[in-house]
Order: sequence, then C-alpha cells, then structure tokens
Amino acid sequence: MTIRILDNCPACGACLMVCPVKALAISGSKLTVNESCIECGLCIQQCPVQQLVLPKDTPSPSPAGKGKGKRSEDIQAKEVKNNAKVTGV
Ligand code: SF4
Ligand code: SF4
Repeated sequence: MTIRILDNCPACGACLMVCPVKALAISGSKLTVNESCIECGLCIQQCPVQQLVLPKDTPSPSPAGKGKGKRSEDIQAKEVKNNAKVTGV
C-alpha cells in the first residue's frame, strides 16, 4: 500500500522533499507515488491543501453513515424476525 493522492492535488511539489524514501514524484502535471512508500505520513503534514491520506484513513467511497444505516437495517430485520416469533406470524 502507498499513501493516497486525492483528486484536487495541484502538484505543487511541496511534499516531495520530505519523503524519506523518495516515493513521490511529479510526472507531467500530476503527483505520483511509487511502491517504495512506507506510509510514514510525513508528506501529509507538508501538504497545504490536504490532498494526501493514508489508506487506512481514506474515506469510504460510499456516503458517510451508510454503514450505520446498514447496521440499523440489520437490527430492524432482527426485530421483525423476533416480532414474528412472538406474534407467531
Ligand atoms: S507517506 Fe512517507 S514514504 Fe510515503 S510518500 Fe509520504 S513521505 Fe514518502
Ligand atoms: S504538497 Fe499536496 S498539493 Fe502539493 S504536490 Fe504534494 S499532495 Fe499535491
């Protein structure tokens, strides 16, 4: 795994100099990261526009709270099942 570069990175290059393993590079007008990245997180602190995130901190592509909603659906499903048992439906 490597650091994740978000879509709004303007490739300013500020993060390049702090990387201890030289995993970051600017290619054309895009920032790239190679497999040498050790996920130390140093570049995150350097980014002025918060366009770097560690994979474990990457927001899920689904809307926030979807997991919660799913859990509540699961609970509701269980309740329906239990109610069915009680009422004999
Ligand atoms: S997380 Fe660390 S190793 Fe990975 S690109 Fe950033 S500074 Fe380099
Ligand atoms: S410091 Fe931030 S905006 Fe600049 S190149 Fe790195 S990730 Fe992109």
